Amino acid sequence: MVISSASIAAAGIGLGSASAQTAATPPAGAAAPTAGQAPGFYRYKIGDIEITAINDGFAMRPLEGFVRNAELADVKKAMAEAFLPDNALPITFTTLVVKTGGKTVLIDTGNGDSGAPTSGRWMANFRAAGFDPAQVDTVLISHFHGDHINGLRLKDGNAVFPKAEIMVPETEWAFWMDDAKMNSAPEGLKGGFQNVRRVFGQVAKDVKQFQPEKELVSGISAVAAPGHTPGHVAFRIASGGKQFLMVSDITNHPALFVRNPAWAAVFDMDAEKARETRVKMLDMVAADRTQVAFYHAPFPATGHILKDGSGFRFVPVQWTPAV
Ligand SMILES: [Zn+2]
Repeated sequence: MVISSASIAAAGIGLGSASAQTAATPPAGAAAPTAGQAPGFYRYKIGDIEITAINDGFAMRPLEGFVRNAELADVKKAMAEAFLPDNALPITFTTLVVKTGGKTVLIDTGNGDSGAPTSGRWMANFRAAGFDPAQVDTVLISHFHGDHINGLRLKDGNAVFPKAEIMVPETEWAFWMDDAKMNSAPEGLKGGFQNVRRVFGQVAKDVKQFQPEKELVSGISAVAAPGHTPGHVAFRIASGGKQFLMVSDITNHPALFVRNPAWAAVFDMDAEKARETRVKMLDMVAADRTQVAFYHAPFPATGHILKDGSGFRFVPVQWTPAV
């Protein structure tokens, strides 16, 4: 009895329309529909603005070497306290679709077909949520790491959002598009520079660069959040007296870096500046009780921040069927 009602409920989530059914179809080789999850999207509202979180799967990252300035034993302890694996961190990816002022706006794009085999779920989840890539008016980019921009362009060169205006932080563009910086970068970072050219090269003249603190589209403005990358930004969404902050990558997994804001992930390009930004922003949203979203928090990757001892705690929202 319990099993059959659960199956009916699960089927109802994914199979609302023919297109959703196609999008939610499990990959070839999957044993049975019951082996998968419901599509990874989650809607919520900030005032009159509707946000849909879209999941792009995950990538496992070995724990060793991931936190630059903490002992592995301490990192493992933090993982155990969050009931996470003791050898590798599942890093999730969650972009936002924002419906505002009659426009469909994306904040970051996921891995496209360039990520780990356990990622690349974004388009199926986006379509299951009822969206089409051709309806996207604007794509806002927080920073130029591959997991945030590769969804713009597939490996075969095709642009994924044919009609969208692409808006990027001016400082980020200046850094990554600088050939001198690319040529003098350490070997490990050169691929990142080349990838930025792969994604943006063909459309460089159409990409709109923005400065923080200005409204970019109705209700959304960028907030400078440097350190993770030189031009990394958060996005503030305001509507009907409500405030919301997409904090992007001011932290990687909250279980590590919200709990221990002084820790630096290996991806933080300027660890000291990233720490400053992280502490300042977490302090602010904790004091203001602002709802936040993280790119790398467990899905649906939104909740609130509480001060807790020398660090903070991420309190996820409660799932609700009411939007
Ligand atoms: Zn990231």
